[in-house]
Amino acid sequence: MNWYKNIIFSSRNLKLPEGTEEQVRGIVDKIIISLQNLQNLPEDPILIGQINFINPYNKQNSLSNIYLNNKTVEETGNTVAMRDRQTGDIYLNIYKAFLLSHKNLIDINYTKKILKEHLFHELTHSIDPKIINLNKTYDMYEYDKPTEFDAYSREITNYINTAYKSEENQALLKRYMVSNSFGEPLDDIINILNMPINLFFIIKYWKENNPKYIKQLRQRIFNEVIIANS
Ligand SMILES: [Zn+2]
Repeated sequence: MNWYKNIIFSSRNLKLPEGTEEQVRGIVDKIIISLQNLQNLPEDPILIGQINFINPYNKQNSLSNIYLNNKTVEETGNTVAMRDRQTGDIYLNIYKAFLLSHKNLIDINYTKKILKEHLFHELTHSIDPKIINLNKTYDMYEYDKPTEFDAYSREITNYINTAYKSEENQALLKRYMVSNSFGEPLDDIINILNMPINLFFIIKYWKENNPKYIKQLRQRIFNEVIIANS
């Protein structure tokens, strides 16, 4: 077994360094201000700021410029965040459809949460040893890629962790995670998690097509949410 398999099948998510969350929150606040002040997004990407840290896996400095990108859904294939693998820069595609499909800017807290998790997803790719050390590309369906599993697993764990902080949600979340309905978008769970619906469908996809990912995701949630909060 190759050494990197231990990372792919680790019972913990890839972990961004301390302080990253604060930087991400700062960037998200700037994005909201830009969106509120701009009537129309300009043609060229707007530089919002930078996220800078020491990559805990290769100990090298990691710098990502964060841009707001004014692209159409067709141009981006409906992808909200993209990371340029050469430069490490991250582009957030804030087109009209994104705002409409994400309850739009009226619900600022929801929009902030979504943007934060999209940034975390891309930053998880930026520290992923599978990408950096092996320059590995995978010729498989998006959700089956080990790199996407790690990034979505980080994202899903973050949502569950936030909801789990509230004591009244704990029993329901525990039941949901051990039950056969894990990954089904049930009404009460949708409300508690406040998670974009596509993440439920990704879990459902893994359940049906890639059960080893589900086993792994559950372990990570158990270790990082249930154990960590008990
Ligand atoms: Zn990704």
